[in-house]
Amino acid sequence: MKISNEILEIFTELGIDTEQIQQDNTEIYAIYRAIEFPEKPAYITTEKYNYGCESDLVGKTIFEKYGIAVKPGRLLHKIFPELNNVTVKEFSAIWSIKYGKNQKSKFLTVNDKEDFLKYYSEDSYENSNGTLGSSCMRGSAEQDFVSFYPDYCNCSLLVCLNELDKVVGRAILWNNILIQGIKYPCFMDRVYINDDNLFVKFFKFAEQNGYARKAKQSYSEPFSFILPDGSEISDSSVYTEISENADSSEYFPFLDTFSGLNYNRLYNQEEEGEYTLQQTDGDKLHNCFCSNCSERVHENDICLIDDEIYCSDCCFWSSLHDCYIREGDCTYIDFYNSYLYDNEIVYCEHLSDDRLSEECEYNENRNEYFFLPDCIETKDTGIFLPESYVNHTDDDGNYYENEKEEANNVA
Ligand SMILES: [Zn+2]
Repeated sequence: MKISNEILEIFTELGIDTEQIQQDNTEIYAIYRAIEFPEKPAYITTEKYNYGCESDLVGKTIFEKYGIAVKPGRLLHKIFPELNNVTVKEFSAIWSIKYGKNQKSKFLTVNDKEDFLKYYSEDSYENSNGTLGSSCMRGSAEQDFVSFYPDYCNCSLLVCLNELDKVVGRAILWNNILIQGIKYPCFMDRVYINDDNLFVKFFKFAEQNGYARKAKQSYSEPFSFILPDGSEISDSSVYTEISENADSSEYFPFLDTFSGLNYNRLYNQEEEGEYTLQQTDGDKLHNCFCSNCSERVHENDICLIDDEIYCSDCCFWSSLHDCYIREGDCTYIDFYNSYLYDNEIVYCEHLSDDRLSEECEYNENRNEYFFLPDCIETKDTGIFLPESYVNHTDDDGNYYENEKEEANNVA
């Protein structure tokens, strides 16, 4: 098998030993950069090559007529079926940078508001593929939201343009970022692209320019960073300074990393912010957290107790008192159809239930609380007792207290 210099160079770069495979693989005559699709590699089988040699080819070479252009990964699988996926991906990435359809694409850093909005808009995109084509802030309706960046933030827009100046990828560059005490000229936020092979191009650009970048290309991973030397930092808390009046902006974009807005700073920890900027409708979400369990509480679901915020799992509504009571401080009593404070109720043995203490009287002799509305005044002692603790023995209908033991038996 013959290997063209263009492919051989990449194999050498990846440390792949090709000598043996060249000797062993007689089925394939050659691998090379496709002539008619120069952004792809191609192969031609020995059988087809020999067949071509004996045929009359009018206006075309054997390679053009019998060669098969494939994706870089397919080619590698064909000639090295046992090769691991990492190497295959690396080969594809290098191929894409050198010869892929985006090899002519170029980077442009935009600061001017008009250009910022123009290149952010889907109207400037090459196509609607990939994460770029489905990004939530790409539409004309979101242009007002995106204005937040040039209006209030110290950031630029990095765009990757094809040869027709159409956007194939973009990322926000946050200027002058401190990560663990070290200053970087830029932090490259989430990369949006229309072709996965462009990731490598963006990452290399960041590395070459001394930029830190986002480690995971997702809004749910705001704490991990890749530094220009390739090392990864996780669980890092970072903020960026913005204009003091930023929270008065009418609209806000959806931010992938710095979603916590607090006065003149954007934090990568939304809990640090008074607001979270991860709405797709241009709004900001007021950050409320439960004083007890620390879970986020939606603005409309706040339960206030002594001016503190609680979630609905950590407190109960007391219809008797018309207020919320902390869970753990209250008990539901069927008799009142309400939650009551634990410190305002007493247990009444004669009812086997709790009652409000203000409706009860403690009887020292019997060592228990009696619920007064259920009690009867006795003639001899003048105290109030539950019906089961008394009997009436005279004709005037007066009540007298039962003997204690007897009362207990009855109760
Ligand atoms: Zn809670």
